[in-house]
Amino acid sequence: MSDQIKFVLDETQIPKSWYNIAADLPKPLPPVLHPGTKQPVGPADLEPLFPMALILQEVSAERTIDIPEPIRDVYRMWRPTPLIRARRLEQALGTPAKIYFKYEGVSPAGSHKPNTAVAQAWYNKEQGVKRLSTETGAGQWGSALAFAGALFGIDVTVFQVRVSYDQKPYRRALIETYGARCIASPSKETESGRAILAKDPNSPGSLGIAISEAVEMAAKDPAVKYSLGSVLNHVLLHQTVNGQEAIKQFELAGDDPDVVIGCTGGGSNFSGLAFPFLGLQLRGGKKRRFIAVEPAACPSLTRGKYAYDFGDTAHLTPLVKMHTLGSTFIPPGFHAGGLRYHGMAPLVSHLHELGLIEARAYHQKTCFDAGVQFARCEGIVPAPEATHAVRGAIDEALRCKREGRAETILFNMSGHGHFDMAAYIAYFEGKLIDQHYDEGELAMALAGLPSLAA
Ligand SMILES: *Cc1c(COP(=O)(O)O)cnc(C)c1O
Repeated sequence: MSDQIKFVLDETQIPKSWYNIAADLPKPLPPVLHPGTKQPVGPADLEPLFPMALILQEVSAERTIDIPEPIRDVYRMWRPTPLIRARRLEQALGTPAKIYFKYEGVSPAGSHKPNTAVAQAWYNKEQGVKRLSTETGAGQWGSALAFAGALFGIDVTVFQVRVSYDQKPYRRALIETYGARCIASPSKETESGRAILAKDPNSPGSLGIAISEAVEMAAKDPAVKYSLGSVLNHVLLHQTVNGQEAIKQFELAGDDPDVVIGCTGGGSNFSGLAFPFLGLQLRGGKKRRFIAVEPAACPSLTRGKYAYDFGDTAHLTPLVKMHTLGSTFIPPGFHAGGLRYHGMAPLVSHLHELGLIEARAYHQKTCFDAGVQFARCEGIVPAPEATHAVRGAIDEALRCKREGRAETILFNMSGHGHFDMAAYIAYFEGKLIDQHYDEGELAMALAGLPSLAA
């Protein structure tokens, strides 16, 4: 059927394993370092924060890791997610390119994040953990982990970045509906939070600060473990169910993407779609372009330094080598809250250094232009984060039009924007501005990167 637009798999075709790109890297990932000794950390160093099964996944070199049946059983609630051809968008653009998107907004929490939230909650439950602490920006990760906690009987405490806590009460309500506790960060509940509030009682917060609070809570209480929604190797690993499904769906479509696009906050939804395709290439398959799209107001891949840095503001985490704007950098409060992180996943950073993926940055207004155009053609209202991927895909389709090339473009629609309509209202009222970060603050944050000279 040449005019088919929806490529659907059945439950039995949910992948049975996750794909670990570490096995296929042409050059190994630089090690994670202990902030005190500056020596590579061992599994034992991470034990206060994570269950051992996840630590072993973090450092694994195995190409495939089996997905336990109870996790696949939960994935069946919304997976496999559809691959959809955006024919109406293609027509509106008048492009010879074919545009496909993988729609992760069909999950209960409305984004790709439950793919890892469910896995992390299950491994914690298996180790007898009763409580998880975490951070959330816009609230998508917090609601995903709250949902997973509800399924497995784990208490979840979410530190939500203050600016989002105030601007997006509905995400907080969703987190509470799933039974988790939601606290505005910086808070008075942790030393890290109190230290920030002492300096700035009106601090808007940042993901870096919220991570410090959640990590501190887990580090101080043996009954609590910590859970992170992006950046880490095991999080990117869990997201690869999506790209593996997409490979099968392209077989159904009788097509094959030339360009794969995702938005990048910490890098997990982009990696989940891109890595299985990139793995085929690293093992001798077809060469494709992979494009990571980030906000121009928080441009870690395009403007950051590739250096060892902390994952959080209070410097409680180990040092990882990544593209970073500096752990003390506080990005302006633009609407794609899920993309306001100072660093980028070490794996994504490494692949960018190796020239295997490209990166570009867009300001928010042009992303909302793209999101609205997409909604009017395809019906789905993208999350503000996902509008970055839409902008990237539309620009590639317009390039194909100029060059007269019928390429196949695939992008990840990482989530819907039903809880983000306040941002759309601001856009329609002409109140959305392109925010610029303070160059002086960026320079200061980068000057403060930890020194590795022994
Ligand atoms: C959290 C989030 C992102 C950004 O996080 P990544 O780890 O880079 O994927 C992107 N899109 C949506 C819808 C999100 O919820």
